[in-house]
Amino acid sequence: MSTKRDYYDVLGVPKNATKDNIKTVYRKLALQYHPDRNKSKEAEEKFKEISEAYAVLSDDDKRKRYDTYGHLGSEEVFRGSEANFEEIFKDIGFGGFRDIFEQVFGGREGGFSDPFNFGFRFGGGGRRRGQDLVYDAELTLEDVFRGRKEEIELPKLEKCRTCSGTGAAPGSKPRKCNVCDGQGQMRRVYSQNRFSTFVSLEPCQTCRGQGEIIDRPCETCNGDGTVRTYKKIKLEIPKGVEDGMTLQLRGEGEPSEGGQPGDLLIRIHVKPHPVFERLADGHILYNLDTSFTDLALGTERRVPTLDGDEKLKINGGSQPNNIVKLKGKGLPRYGGFGKGDELVRLNIKVPTQLSDTQKELLRQLDREFKSAVGR
Ligand SMILES: [Zn+2]
Ligand SMILES: [Zn+2]
Repeated sequence: MSTKRDYYDVLGVPKNATKDNIKTVYRKLALQYHPDRNKSKEAEEKFKEISEAYAVLSDDDKRKRYDTYGHLGSEEVFRGSEANFEEIFKDIGFGGFRDIFEQVFGGREGGFSDPFNFGFRFGGGGRRRGQDLVYDAELTLEDVFRGRKEEIELPKLEKCRTCSGTGAAPGSKPRKCNVCDGQGQMRRVYSQNRFSTFVSLEPCQTCRGQGEIIDRPCETCNGDGTVRTYKKIKLEIPKGVEDGMTLQLRGEGEPSEGGQPGDLLIRIHVKPHPVFERLADGHILYNLDTSFTDLALGTERRVPTLDGDEKLKINGGSQPNNIVKLKGKGLPRYGGFGKGDELVRLNIKVPTQLSDTQKELLRQLDREFKSAVGR
């Protein structure tokens, strides 16, 4: 079902607007909402919306189909529209089409938005971009501290050699699906009342969205046209990455026939550490158990860091929960902006079992304190 806003409304142009008119309006809106100019989340959403509308309305063929049938499938929206954007972006002094759109739709390190959700695919001249691959990296805090190199195996689809990727058994050919006329999708009226009609494009059931039917499937690939293999990639996960981040390796995804290969997306998961708690800005927290006498008299202790043990000086008269800093002993910050600190919190551990001698000494001390106050 499609609940997208009308493209003419999005751009604020009349239905019979000329191409030049649409271009002028989009140019103006792009200047206003372009993510390099306007950093708000709303602006980014707005930029997506106007760009989608412009992609369709700037293309005669897509505009005609939109006028007749309603919204196009998301895969189709940007296909072949690159030139229409390049012209405008160059004109107003912004980067190339792909850069901007990958930034907005594809994910910037740290502030990732899932490109699959949006479903946009690019490709010059109607060629499809290869699929993105996703790898989930499980890291310890030590990995974050040092960075991690590993070799991974990624599942990968390769063109089937038996059928040269057609999916049809040798000697046969796929034929055009006559239910959807080779389009792979069907237009359905979702609901209709006095006020509105929702139209959706759904994959054709007969050909499962392929647009063609294979009568005799290739036995090697079961008619898929592709076979699964593995691809080895050397990964270098930089220091300081954070849980939930996604790193993007350009061009390491699935290849594409004649089009751009997809990207490899590395999703970072950092396991909780048994003794350190990760704070913002590369700082880490360590809880150190101390005694009343440690804090009252001051002492020196050895504490763990991510890089071996360190000496920690506790000043006499320290209070419970005071923080002592080990400068620069935290995590490297992502992107090479120095290191955080290790914050050591001084906990007081009260003994639960005391010998008679210890009890007597404490009572003596207690009396001493009280008489000092009374003086
Ligand atoms: Zn095959
Ligand atoms: Zn079909």
